[in-house]
Amino acid sequence: MDFSWDEKQLALKDSVIRFAQKELNDEVIEKDRTGAFPRDEWKKCADFGIQGFPFPEQYGGINADILTSMLVMEGLGYACKDSGLIFGINAQMWSVQMPIFRFGTDEQKEQYLTKLCRGEFIGAHGMTEPESGSDAFSLSTTAERCGDHYVLNGTKTLVTNGPVSDVFIVFATVDKRKRFMGVTGFIIEKDFPGFGVSKDIEKMGLRTSPMSELILNDCMVPVENRLGKEGNGAAIFNDSMEWERCCILASYLGGMERQILTCIKHAKTRRQFNQPIGNFQSVANKIVDMKVRMETARLMLYKVAWLKKSQGQAGMDAALAKLYMSESWVKSCLDAIQIHGGYGYTTEYELERDLRDSVSGTLYSGTSEIQRNIIARYLGL
Ligand SMILES: Cc1cc2nc3c(=O)[nH]c(=O)nc-3n(C[C@H](O)[C@H](O)[C@H](O)COP(=O)(O)OP(=O)(O)OC[C@H]3O[C@@H](n4cnc5c(N)ncnc54)[C@H](O)[C@@H]3O)c2cc1C
Repeated sequence: MDFSWDEKQLALKDSVIRFAQKELNDEVIEKDRTGAFPRDEWKKCADFGIQGFPFPEQYGGINADILTSMLVMEGLGYACKDSGLIFGINAQMWSVQMPIFRFGTDEQKEQYLTKLCRGEFIGAHGMTEPESGSDAFSLSTTAERCGDHYVLNGTKTLVTNGPVSDVFIVFATVDKRKRFMGVTGFIIEKDFPGFGVSKDIEKMGLRTSPMSELILNDCMVPVENRLGKEGNGAAIFNDSMEWERCCILASYLGGMERQILTCIKHAKTRRQFNQPIGNFQSVANKIVDMKVRMETARLMLYKVAWLKKSQGQAGMDAALAKLYMSESWVKSCLDAIQIHGGYGYTTEYELERDLRDSVSGTLYSGTSEIQRNIIARYLGL
């Protein structure tokens, strides 16, 4: 494995950092308070090329390899303080754009991927239902073929970007008795008959990333909007979850780096007992622990991206990286608050927001418990 970056890649990361610092950090505290979706910033990211990085130029992308794309997302997480914006973009890239790119027809790629890369469309991914979460393939949403259409009925929940999306990947079963063999993917546009979106679901963190239910009430979906073959939905879902686990946390790495620098500055300037608090080993050690977590996370992320690039698959390593990075980010957010004392608990210092945003990482794309189950399976347990 060779993780050395060439000058072009490093210049790209620098340009993302400069772009994000200049364009994406306005009034983040206020946006978090009101839960406002940063639509302008979303479009600016697309104009810069973020949503299109790993996708071919033919579809409005940049055609960067996956390692370079991870470096870009790392830079974005370092410089952009709005984790909700970053999360929403990542959710679209890995669980909407990637499955359309990998399993869609040429027409579907032309019609949807291009607009998603360019920020003309926003996309969402609906798998979770009120009664099926971790056990995703026990879903109840049905799809019945009627001539040149499918008719979909059911409810999806906890859908990121739901309230603001133009296009949705939705999974339904064509035959519940077949369990995962019946699961099928569909691409739905927001104005298809019988399709609706609930009001926003309020949440603890990632508040600028809107979330909702999707309501399918005799929703008419043309056959040409099926994603892949009938019964291929479980494979498509697993594939996109592996991509998501590999890539969605790259920005956390940048966030970890930003937070360490903030903590070092505070530890050197905040004085108690006539000396900088960084002189106290129990404070310094917390920063050291944050550094160890960041460097470990860095190696895991780069390794998983390298595996995806060189071998196409990274099942166990994706689960390992997702598990470790998400839990490390929560621990580091807690350490950062502790190092800042009471100020760390205030909104103004922007560390409590990081903590609220971080907790979700142990839940989406499969909970930490599910990641452990996956790893145990790879270990033959
Ligand atoms: C911020 C955020 C964004 C999300 N975005 C989307 C989205 O865009 N699209 C979408 O479809 N979904 C989305 N989700 C939903 C997410 O995928 C689910 O929350 C997740 O899969 C867990 O399902 P659940 O919430 O129903 O919990 P449950 O499956 O009910 O789990 C509850 C608890 O039981 C544990 N548990 C369950 N089964 C097992 C097991 N076999 N072994 C050990 N422990 C187990 C879980 O780990 C958890 O601790 C999002 C969630 C969050 C928090």
